[in-house]
Amino acid sequence: MNQTIRRQIFERLREQNPHPTTELNYSTPFELLIAVILSAQATDKGVNKATAKLYPVANTPEAIVALGEEGLKSYIKTIGLFNSKAANIIKTCQQLIELHDSQVPQDRAALEALPGVGRKTANVVLNTVFRQPTMAVDTHIFRVANRTRIAPGKNVLEVEKKLLRFIPKEFLLDAHHWLILHGRYTCLARSPRCGSCIIEDLCEYRGKNLD
Ligand code: SF4
Repeated sequence: MNQTIRRQIFERLREQNPHPTTELNYSTPFELLIAVILSAQATDKGVNKATAKLYPVANTPEAIVALGEEGLKSYIKTIGLFNSKAANIIKTCQQLIELHDSQVPQDRAALEALPGVGRKTANVVLNTVFRQPTMAVDTHIFRVANRTRIAPGKNVLEVEKKLLRFIPKEFLLDAHHWLILHGRYTCLARSPRCGSCIIEDLCEYRGKNLD
């Protein structure tokens, strides 16, 4: 795929949705961090349902530590892997209090040092809250990048690096959200909606579903 086509793809995605953002509900960097930790292998809807009850009661590291692991579990028990997520969140809150003045750190190394926070979570927080041009490659982005050939790669790190290299600078801040939303609602895993896809003529996928 050449750069002219990549540019056209992002121009169309931007035209359709000029201000894309995450579908996780949050009002502070800390709320987003916790929501992203909770969202691993869970739907944004499910996470939003749980945090709608949790955050009015506890939306700071201190308040969540005060809830305790069992107290926290009672709010997140509808979410997959809630036992390990509760343990990680409590430890993360303790670290934020002890090492970061109860604030969410703005650099990758400090974020990735928090329990339950991997490269993907750090990328989402850095991009969404701190507006850094990072690329959190999840299953949707991996699929869209490979099918379209915007940034084909065998693993998420390869795709992440190619996306950062190939996406024109002016689109980089928002590209993460455009690609996730495109994968979630149009370029579906099992049956992509190629017939109603706004980038169908630019996409290089050989197995298009045009019925
Ligand atoms: S044309 Fe099909 S495969 Fe290509 S991006 Fe659109 S939905 Fe995905």
